Amino acid sequence: SSVLEIKDLHVSVETEQGAKEILKGVNLTLKQGETHAIMGPNGSGKSTLAYAIAGHPRYEVTSGSILLDGVEVTEMEVDERAQAGLFLAMQYPVEIPGVTNANFLRTAKTAIDGEAPAIRTWMGEVRDAMKNLRMDESFASRNVNEGFSGGEKKRNEILQLELLKPKFAVLDETDSGLDVDALKIVSEGVNRAKDGTGLGVMLITHYTRILRYIKPDFVHVFVNGRVAEQGGPELADRLEAEGYDRFLVDA
Ligand code: ADP
Ligand code: MG
Ligand code: MG
Repeated sequence: SSVLEIKDLHVSVETEQGAKEILKGVNLTLKQGETHAIMGPNGSGKSTLAYAIAGHPRYEVTSGSILLDGVEVTEMEVDERAQAGLFLAMQYPVEIPGVTNANFLRTAKTAIDGEAPAIRTWMGEVRDAMKNLRMDESFASRNVNEGFSGGEKKRNEILQLELLKPKFAVLDETDSGLDVDALKIVSEGVNRAKDGTGLGVMLITHYTRILRYIKPDFVHVFVNGRVAEQGGPELADRLEAEGYDRFLVDA
């Protein structure tokens, strides 16, 4: 089983005023099969962590490391990270005009596996996954995320997750903008991936609501670019009751 280790990670973002340090020494170890909730107030650096893991060009790792089974992820290209088993569901999923969802999924699957999936089995898998996520089959022939509602984009991210079968998924505010029904459907998809392939999940969220459906093994609270506190699921319950004020006083 695999392990993703984040060690003393410092990340800066390119701004018009120059580089600005956002992550100031993050430590976190995530094993396959585990779910870690990353919580924290807005602007604390949660998305920056997600982008750094995914290899977004604007986010520079200035020191520390991200290791997947001991291999340095920060030196990999974006496509190599996906091949190594990392998946990022973004807070704001991008639209890809001119590329249908079905073609995108097949191309991604082919790139990750190094060979094209057998067409008939693959079509069946896509159909089943879409049905499970209550997505109308017309979404297969529509351009990726183009004109999708916020909730449809989030479902589409989970569709990719279920079909691409990564080792680790970073889900950045997958719960935002979802009504309760959509939240349940999306959570069921994540839980299927956890049960089916022993997915390791980094669940980034501002709110505790999604943690009723996707149970975290560990909770980490981000404040000002660092993990201010960590604990088990009971820490999320405390945050639900008390909010982040207690952390902001010290920040
Ligand atoms: P969170 O996801 O916890 O809300 P972010 O990682 O999005 O936090 O942002 C952390 C901090 O970094 C914020 O102060 C934000 O304004 C800043 N930041 C992130 N990305 C950029 C960027 N591309 N340009 C300028 N500032 C950025
Ligand atoms: Mg934010
Ligand atoms: Mg964010």
